[in-house]
Amino acid sequence: MQEAKTLKGYRHEVGRALANDFLREAMDKFAVAYRESRAKVFAEMDIDALVADVATAKDQALHRLDHLYTQFKQNAEAMGVKVHLADTADAANRIIADIARDNGVRTVIKSKSMTAEETLLNHHLEHEGLTVTETDLGEWIIQLRHEGPSHMVMPAIHLSRHQVADLFTQVTGQHQDSEIQRLVKVARRELRQKFAQADMGISGANFAIADTGTIGLVTNEGNARLVTTLPRVHVALIGLDKLLPGMVDALKILRVLPRNATGQAITSYVTWITGPAEYNPSETGPAKQMHIVFLDNGRRALARDPIFSQVLRCVRCGACANVCPVYRMVGGHQYGHIYIGAIGLIVTYFFHGREKARNLVQNCINCGACKAVCAAGIDLPQLIKEVHARIQDEEGHPLQSTMLATVLKNRRLFHTLLRSAQLAQRPVTGGTAYLRHLPHIFSKQHNFRALPAIAERAFRDRWPSLRTRVAQPRCRVALFSGCVQDFVYPEQLEAGLRLLVAHGVDVDFPMEQSCCGLPVAMMGENKAARDVARQNVAAIDPDRFDYIVTLCASCASHLRHAYPRLLGDEPDVGRKAEAFAAKVQPLSVLLHHILAIDNAAFSASGETATYHAPCHLCRGMDEHTAPKALMATAGYGFTPASEEETCCGFGGTYSAKFPEISAEILTTKLSDIEATGARLLVTECPGCAMQLRGGAKQRGMKIRVAHLAEALAERLKI
Ligand code: SF4
Ligand code: SF4
Repeated sequence: MQEAKTLKGYRHEVGRALANDFLREAMDKFAVAYRESRAKVFAEMDIDALVADVATAKDQALHRLDHLYTQFKQNAEAMGVKVHLADTADAANRIIADIARDNGVRTVIKSKSMTAEETLLNHHLEHEGLTVTETDLGEWIIQLRHEGPSHMVMPAIHLSRHQVADLFTQVTGQHQDSEIQRLVKVARRELRQKFAQADMGISGANFAIADTGTIGLVTNEGNARLVTTLPRVHVALIGLDKLLPGMVDALKILRVLPRNATGQAITSYVTWITGPAEYNPSETGPAKQMHIVFLDNGRRALARDPIFSQVLRCVRCGACANVCPVYRMVGGHQYGHIYIGAIGLIVTYFFHGREKARNLVQNCINCGACKAVCAAGIDLPQLIKEVHARIQDEEGHPLQSTMLATVLKNRRLFHTLLRSAQLAQRPVTGGTAYLRHLPHIFSKQHNFRALPAIAERAFRDRWPSLRTRVAQPRCRVALFSGCVQDFVYPEQLEAGLRLLVAHGVDVDFPMEQSCCGLPVAMMGENKAARDVARQNVAAIDPDRFDYIVTLCASCASHLRHAYPRLLGDEPDVGRKAEAFAAKVQPLSVLLHHILAIDNAAFSASGETATYHAPCHLCRGMDEHTAPKALMATAGYGFTPASEEETCCGFGGTYSAKFPEISAEILTTKLSDIEATGARLLVTECPGCAMQLRGGAKQRGMKIRVAHLAEALAERLKI
């Protein structure tokens, strides 16, 4: 549970997590194992269709939330259940405490419930003098340690079995072995008494089925069944977002939930409860009571929000944490407040306030891994950026991002500043291609990679002498440079130009184009992102070109996906932005899929290369094959690096804001690359090239890092 008030304080907490070797090792192992088991369990299934089913079912339910609640209440109460509605977390806690008081409850057992974590129910009940025991093994462990979950599905994933053995030794007063089965036995023995004595059981639920008044629980441990059946009072605390019209919708979710959460086809237990479950300790004893407390806590308002309603589709599978490179480095206590992972970064703002969300939303590298695996098809990275922008709009924009926004919106000023920086950098480059020492604005933590110097002449300044007319071209292309290649790596654009011309493409470089705007979007500067988008759409008329080609994967993804959204509400510009976006292609896609180039223009090198897939190419543009196919076309041998599609840690302005995390992600990436033994690393994004090249140099690796365009162009026969 991150609690730091300032970004500096948060970075300090993050630094402590990064220094936890066990956490890092556990997270690494888990990330790799999860990906493999998920792939296996979804093999032969159409994941996209399954996810679309979940999204549709949830969206339809969210549109009728009030109706579904009324229907559920009617049906459940007809079965003898008392249904309550709590507007706030406090109200939910009070309702449950009142139920306990009215029934003379002294001891409570609980099964795992993120909704109860959200309301801090345990604290409230303990404050009321009740004894509450968590009965899910992971939850019990963290309860004993007085900490929150570090994962929504596996709450104690951050702990080693040795730590658990020490904890159990303390709790039982007897030395406990760290062998896992023995630890489970200890928990079973200790908890059995609690089950037998409890007056009240509190559970959550994964589903609330309106047309029957049924709740459904998906678990891997038998504890939830005992919690709901053994005590004389059962209370289920459920978010309103769990309401569904019928069982068919729940089954659609059930096909995806366990597969996506833990790579299991189905969990050990799926429990459906309609009416109070049987309880009959004696014929004269009190009858079983069942209460269902629905929690709003902002959900009904969220369901009406045109941008954010999709967060309520979440089925709490935890996959968005499982694949997140930042979560993998820092763990859940620093990557969420109560809800963990990408979804946690968003809902923290709505459920727990912007104070808790302010730092978290800045700690997203925008790699898109969460979106790619989300069981409900939520555009998590985009919503994280939206929350960031919303917080800045509410609190005022920091000076740094306002300045960047002002500069980026003014192309001439921006380019003049870059040209001036080129002249000013001489004392720190010593005539080399790198900054030999970092200017004072950078701290030591930025030293994990060598930073490139600004090129002597920008691509746009070279363009008049590079322009080559192609007679009877196969297609006409507008080259979109992005600022890194224009001003830092113009040679990559020159290489791309040679490739295109060699394959019969007529290329133009519209001079009024500017930065794509992603850096300001990442900083929560939505207005500036819109202004820059409008300028680029005006600079490159989509009607004049067959394609708008870029060698930068991040630009490609931003131009394609963000521009129609950013400009969509401006009638004429919006239509043009749609046409513009539809023509955007990465270089590799144009060469491989559209032009289908062959090896005629290349002389084979025989050199073996490895490849890093830029996040915005493999996930942003859903392109997984073209760069590697082109390397083969140009005659390179290929050796794959493990986790080829995992982020390199760049993330543009992210690596400047969180250098310590960026450095750790890069270290893992470079180790995977080093293990291939390749002497050439190819990628298709100048940002990735900058990160990987700078990191490899700092690490003294004997590997050349090339943009795909450079690697291909150097094998051109002409
Ligand atoms: S975009 Fe990447 S870094 Fe951001 S939350 Fe998703 S997985 Fe994590
Ligand atoms: S946001 Fe998506 S991936 Fe994350 S927990 Fe919810 S459903 Fe699962």
